[in-house]
Amino acid sequence: MRPHDPRVDEALAAFARHFGGTPTRLAGAPGRVNLIGEHTDHNGGLCLPFALPQRTFAALRPRADQIVRMHSTHRDQSLEWDLREARACRGWAAYVVGTLAALGHRTGFDILVHSDVPVGAGLSSSAALTCAVAVASSPEADLTTLLRATITAENDYVGAPTGGLDQSVVLGARAGTALLLDFSRPESERVVRTAPTAVPGHEWWIFDTHVAHDLADGGYAARRRECTAAAEALGVPTLTLASPAAVAELSLREATLAARARHVLTENARVRAMTAALDARDAATIGTLLTRSHRSLRDDFAVSCAELDVAVEVLLGSGAVGARMVGGGFGGSAVALLPTGSARQVGSALAGAFGRRGWRAPTPLAAGRGNEGATRVV
Ligand code: ADP
Ligand code: MG
Repeated sequence: MRPHDPRVDEALAAFARHFGGTPTRLAGAPGRVNLIGEHTDHNGGLCLPFALPQRTFAALRPRADQIVRMHSTHRDQSLEWDLREARACRGWAAYVVGTLAALGHRTGFDILVHSDVPVGAGLSSSAALTCAVAVASSPEADLTTLLRATITAENDYVGAPTGGLDQSVVLGARAGTALLLDFSRPESERVVRTAPTAVPGHEWWIFDTHVAHDLADGGYAARRRECTAAAEALGVPTLTLASPAAVAELSLREATLAARARHVLTENARVRAMTAALDARDAATIGTLLTRSHRSLRDDFAVSCAELDVAVEVLLGSGAVGARMVGGGFGGSAVALLPTGSARQVGSALAGAFGRRGWRAPTPLAAGRGNEGATRVV
């Protein structure tokens, strides 16, 4: 976060407008992009996310009753909910109320949410929201408590089966680095090491395709079921533990399940290779790994879509050294490593290709070089 962040002033002004006076606490939490390691989290594997410059701020003040009054500048919408009925809460309020309930709060708050994280773009605006609320409402809680509560909010209150990747990086990210996360470990011990994200002569960019993805609907759940079935067929507790030979053998009987397993094994290998390539600041290898990850997600894991495939091919054809879809799939954003200064030209190539197909132009977003995780501001 910048020392005098204008977003903090905006959040304070909006708080005064909607609730009057000043908040007692204010925290910010970043969106995130996963550089590589997609669909490995729920298979006991590896991933390598970093935090974005875009942040969600939660400004709050305790109340004497059990009511949570919320306003989000994103929706320009005010909502109210009784904490005692937290389980029944739906919509965006469920992220806020679910987090408070999971942290054990019994009295309410006035909460102002102000964010520049694109919503529903696969950049984890949801974890930015829950983590900002968690840190603002429970500044004394330790990392494990914050992790568990924000994961519980999404899994049990919202009903989104997320695996903890988002919360780990949104809470634990360190400036200038990506976090290597190992999902064979308990949630509080997942950060294995950091890797530097700066690549000389290059910039990280994200392109939001505006294609809606929804973790709560069918495709994501189907892939998780297939991974469970593949692990069963291979006789391993998680796909990460399967041997390539056993997967090759399975492909003779169960081609689809074997392809899902193959993605997980090759993706884990790409995460390791990416960590080394970042250490070496080796742009060409970084690019190759990104693009291979996309092809594996498209062909073996089958979670891409026409817009993401076109985006990646156009990015590669207009100067990106590598590109891939990010997030659970079926829409959302693509991440690319671009030569410094080429984003404008690449963006117009994308806009042209999308326009010719009658699709809305993707929105470019500078991804920075790794921000710090959730922090308390006030
Ligand atoms: P992603 O996390 O990739 O952005 P999700 O579907 O997981 O997508 O989460 C998006 C949801 O999170 C939104 O539909 C909304 O309910 C909630 N949300 C995120 N940010 C905000 C915000 N600033 N204001 C209100 N709701 C938000
Ligand atoms: Mg999310």
